Amino acid sequence: MAHELPHLPYGYADMEPHIDAETMHLHHDMHHAAYVKNLNAALEKHPHLKSKSTEELLRHLAAVPEDIRTKVRNNGGGHVNHSMFWRIMNPAGGGEPIGSVAQAIKQAFGSFNNFKTQFDEAGAGHFGSGWVWLAGNSNSAKVQIITTANQDNPLSQGLYAIMGNDLWEHAYYLRYNNRRGEYLAAWWNVLNWAEINMRYEAIQAAHAPAFAHR
Ligand code: MN
Repeated sequence: MAHELPHLPYGYADMEPHIDAETMHLHHDMHHAAYVKNLNAALEKHPHLKSKSTEELLRHLAAVPEDIRTKVRNNGGGHVNHSMFWRIMNPAGGGEPIGSVAQAIKQAFGSFNNFKTQFDEAGAGHFGSGWVWLAGNSNSAKVQIITTANQDNPLSQGLYAIMGNDLWEHAYYLRYNNRRGEYLAAWWNVLNWAEINMRYEAIQAAHAPAFAHR
């Protein structure tokens, strides 16, 4: 059973003006598709791993055979990260967080505005490619901002990704050039808080949201 590229849950141009259609095309159809293709190619060498979810592989990277571990880390991470990324955005999104994730954010950062500021500062300050995350754990209501390099997912350090923004230049360079901060600020206008809250609640119920597979 091969891993599959999920369909975008909206049109390529629907994130305009915050994210341009060409970026969405390249990002989904080329970048994400390549992660899926390369993950499947790596797993061909160890077919018994094909039945495992990508999330499970990332959570237990040390158990992945060494000859494909880096490929699974990079491409499995790319697959899981982008599968989340498409779903936590919505053209009609934006506004304030809702539900229990809103409470958790308020608890940890004092206010939504403080959270946004700290999240964008972490994203702008991260050197090179990577992701900025709001991460949590199943045995705690506490949430924290972290950044990771490349396509590393918080799962590989024992945390769960509630939401995350893509800091790779491929996510913003066509429209924003080197102005990462402008892209980070615009991204809040397209956030799907219902989905993000659902992810937070899934983590609270002690399982990783397996959005790559639905
Ligand atoms: Mn990306």
